[in-house]
Amino acid sequence: MYPTLEIDKGKLADNARAVASVCGAAGIDVAGVVKVVNGDPVCARVMYENGCGRIASSRMDQLERLHREAPGIPLLLVRVPMISEADALVRTAGMSLNSDRDVLRAVNAAAGKAGVVHDVILMRELGDLREGVWEEAEYIAMAVEVENELKHLRLAGTGTNLGCYGSIRPTAEKMGELVAATERIESAIGRRVDIISGGGSTSLPLVMGGEMPERVNHLRVGEGIVVCKDNEDLYGVKIDGTHRDVLTLKAEVLEARVKPSRPIGEIAYDAFRVKNIYTDRGERRRALLGVGKVDYGYPDQISPRTAGAELLGASSDHTILDVEDADPDIRAGDILTFDALYAAVAFLSVSPGVRKVYI
Ligand SMILES: *Cc1c(COP(=O)(O)O)cnc(C)c1O
Repeated sequence: MYPTLEIDKGKLADNARAVASVCGAAGIDVAGVVKVVNGDPVCARVMYENGCGRIASSRMDQLERLHREAPGIPLLLVRVPMISEADALVRTAGMSLNSDRDVLRAVNAAAGKAGVVHDVILMRELGDLREGVWEEAEYIAMAVEVENELKHLRLAGTGTNLGCYGSIRPTAEKMGELVAATERIESAIGRRVDIISGGGSTSLPLVMGGEMPERVNHLRVGEGIVVCKDNEDLYGVKIDGTHRDVLTLKAEVLEARVKPSRPIGEIAYDAFRVKNIYTDRGERRRALLGVGKVDYGYPDQISPRTAGAELLGASSDHTILDVEDADPDIRAGDILTFDALYAAVAFLSVSPGVRKVYI
């Protein structure tokens, strides 16, 4: 029965609508990114029906499942495709983000073989140092090749990604660089492109502050719709009408009893080879839960909603809470609820031991 990851479809719909409406008012289309929920088809359907014009994932297996189980939704691959998945890509998704000529040529060949035209967004490196073309001359030459030579591809537009690896904050200046590079591509190919894709959830504050350059007309939003915590916690901005509790982790208490708070004996290493520091707070009531690091990855990415309960730590399959001050009293068999941040949600969603429940 437990642990479960409970997904509130109504709250997810509200979040998608609120984000799509703030973006829409600024002339921006939203692609809803579902990789954090393992490409869940129910979530994809809710997001698509509530303002996300396209559904995106970084993983081909998730897109293939969506193609089968949620047919009719336009799909976008947001990780640069592997050459080995080019055939699957063109059969499954109408659009992908790209940054490599060899990949583009392989996708073009696959699209030709499948008899389809595949839309590409060319990714510009703006300093976060993950995917994207850094040299401007190469960026323009790549666009010209797609436009003039790769007949089974359509240059839909340009894009960038910030924040994920290099922690670089999207600013109006960075977005201006993307628009400027796009305009040089447009001079070279002699037409305007449809899409300028200015990043993910970390670009939402720019939209809310009215600072997004006008030509940026597309964002790819996952965290800001599904989890919806980072922009509020880290930058103090929240879109009206969004909820922080679309997702709830529920786990069952296996044992609840009073014990010393500091381990007894010679303290060496834990199961993950970490040397921990344990504070002595005397004897306190502790609860042991049937969920662990194997399910959520990082204990510091989950927090109990029970008032007075404090997360002490975890091993692979157990989570330990201090519940001395918890209200009400915690006993074996109780089901406790937790908030989960992005990374924890990503782990929980792929854990075979965590059942998804929709409300
Ligand atoms: C994951 C991803 C996104 C979505 O990021 P969020 O922070 O969840 O909004 C957007 N673009 C790319 C390229 C991604 O890999």
